[in-house]
Amino acid sequence: MPAATPDREHSGPDSPLGPEDDDPTRRLVRVPVVVGSPRPGITLPYSLDRVYGVFYDCRRGGRHHRGLDLGGVGPDFGLGTPVRAMVRSRITFIGTPESDPRQFGRRDTRPGTVERRGRELPRSGWHGPYGEVFYFTRDYGSWHAGVTVIFEALESEIAGHQIRYMHLAAIHPELRVGDEVEAGQEVGLMGGTAVMRDLPHVHIDIETPEGRRVDVAPLVGLEADTPRRCRR
Ligand SMILES: [Zn+2]
Repeated sequence: MPAATPDREHSGPDSPLGPEDDDPTRRLVRVPVVVGSPRPGITLPYSLDRVYGVFYDCRRGGRHHRGLDLGGVGPDFGLGTPVRAMVRSRITFIGTPESDPRQFGRRDTRPGTVERRGRELPRSGWHGPYGEVFYFTRDYGSWHAGVTVIFEALESEIAGHQIRYMHLAAIHPELRVGDEVEAGQEVGLMGGTAVMRDLPHVHIDIETPEGRRVDVAPLVGLEADTPRRCRR
């Protein structure tokens, strides 16, 4: 099942997704501005107040990021705040440290705080139906994606497309593969799994059935990113 395999574009030896998301060389060239509303049928997955990464950001190896990184907003950089489905969709894949620590990283359940970009952040907190949630992992796991949920969009102009969320702290405990979720439904919590350097954020990317990535930004009302070349 294609949804359960790491993206072929990032098929490094053991870090299929990694270089794109937690790259010390990353530099946001341009902060996108809100130019409109989400497209019909699409809902904001999270606040757009802190956009940390856009489609044509250059990452290691001269590759483009090809996703949208929305940073956590609120106390402790939004750790534990809800992340929502952006369109009515079906869950096709869930990957967690609990299901496979080799692929999705080992959960960091140590006491105390962690440091990311010079900020001290709590390792865990209590959140309603989730119980105690540990926000981070101790390593990247082979996917470099942390807690991952993949959806197949059922509505709007991206119907049939695959939507992937990465680095969540947790998936909502009632959700399973095969479930349908509504646009705006809470699907998980902001976290920093498989994010060892950067501040908490959710990475969102969208792929057509043919495997072509599309820019998420204009779908949620942000200006589309401008293509630029990356040096290898
Ligand atoms: Zn990203």
